[in-house]
Amino acid sequence: MAEHDLETPAQIETPSDDSAPSDDSAPRAGFAALVGRPNVGKSTLLNALLGQKVAIVSHRPQTTRNRILGVRTEKGKQVVLIDTPGIHRRRDNLNPFLVREAFEALEGQDVIVLCTEVDPKRMTAPRGNEQPRVEISQQDEYVLEQVRERSGSTPIILVINKIDLLGDLSLLLPLIDWWAARGFEHIVPISARETDGVEAVFEEMAALMPKSALLYPEEMLTDRAERFLVGELIREQVFVQCREEIPYATAVEVERFEERRERGDVQIDAVIFVERGSQKGIVVGAGGSRIKAIGSSARVEIAKLLGCPAHVRLTVRVSADWTRKLAERRRFGYE
Ligand code: GDP
Repeated sequence: MAEHDLETPAQIETPSDDSAPSDDSAPRAGFAALVGRPNVGKSTLLNALLGQKVAIVSHRPQTTRNRILGVRTEKGKQVVLIDTPGIHRRRDNLNPFLVREAFEALEGQDVIVLCTEVDPKRMTAPRGNEQPRVEISQQDEYVLEQVRERSGSTPIILVINKIDLLGDLSLLLPLIDWWAARGFEHIVPISARETDGVEAVFEEMAALMPKSALLYPEEMLTDRAERFLVGELIREQVFVQCREEIPYATAVEVERFEERRERGDVQIDAVIFVERGSQKGIVVGAGGSRIKAIGSSARVEIAKLLGCPAHVRLTVRVSADWTRKLAERRRFGYE
C-alpha cells in the first residue's frame, strides 16, 4: 500500500473516522465478543485466531466457565477476545444464565463478532437462468434480532463459517446479500477449521478497534490464573469424552494445585461435580475407564498449558440438582 502523505490537502480534508482504516499505523486496542449459536464454530475460530500467539487469560478466575479471554497483538494492534456462551433458545435451569451472560458480554465491547455457519441443505445451486437461493434458519434470525437489540452502535462483524462444506462457493453470494440487506457492512466468509479467512477476521477486528495504546503487555502469556484454566481443561475433557450425555450439569473444582519445584512437575487434584448418581456412573465409566481417559487426556492438555509434566487426580462427586440451587451455582461461578 502507498504511504500516505499527511501534507496533501486531500488527506487533511478527510473527515476523521475511527473505523476507517486510512491510518493503518495508529495503535489500536480493544475488546471483541464472539457470539453465536452453539456449534457454529466459535471455539474453533477463537483457537484459529489465537494460534501459536495465544495469550490465554481468564477474565474472572473461578467465576465463569465460558469467558476465556485471548489476547492477540500484531503490529501495534491488539484484540482482546471474549468467548461467550452460545445464544440458546432452549431453556433449562442454567440456560437463562447462559443467555444473560452471552448478552451481557455484548455490552462494553468495541466489536461484536457474530458467528454463523453455512447450511448446505438450505442452499440451492442455480439451475438454468435461475439465481442460487438460500434460506436462513429461524435460529439465525433469532440470534440476529437479539444481537441487534443489544449491540447499540457497536460494530458487528458477521462471520459466515464452514464454507469448506460448500461445493460451490457462488452459493455464498445470495447468503452475503441476505445479511448485507439487513445492514451488515462487515461480512467475512471463513473456514475456521481450515484457517481460511481467519486472518481477515483479525484484520477486520483490528481495524474497527478504537485508537488506543495496548491494553495488555505484548508478550503476556498468561495472567497466572492457571488454576482456572486447568479446571476448564478438565471440564473440556468431560465434554469430549461424554459428549451429549452430560450436557450442562458439570462443574470442576481444582482443590489442589501444587508446583513441585524439586520434581519440576505439578500435582493437580480436582473434583468433577455432577447432579445425579446416574451422571456420576457415566463420567466414571465401566470399571473407571472413562474417568481414567478424562484424566489422561486432561493431563496432556494441562502439561501443554503449563509447560511441565502434570499429575492429575480426579474424583467425581454428586451435588444433587446443583444447577437449581442458587448457592451451588454461585459456588461454581454461575451467578
Ligand atoms: P462452538 O459451539 O460455536 O464453539 O463451536 P465449535 O468450535 O465447538 O465447533 C462445533 C463443530 O463444528 C465442531 O465439530 C467443529 O469441528 C466444527 N467446525 C468448526 N469450524 C468448522 C469449519 O470451518 N468447517 C467445518 N466443516 N466444521 C467446523
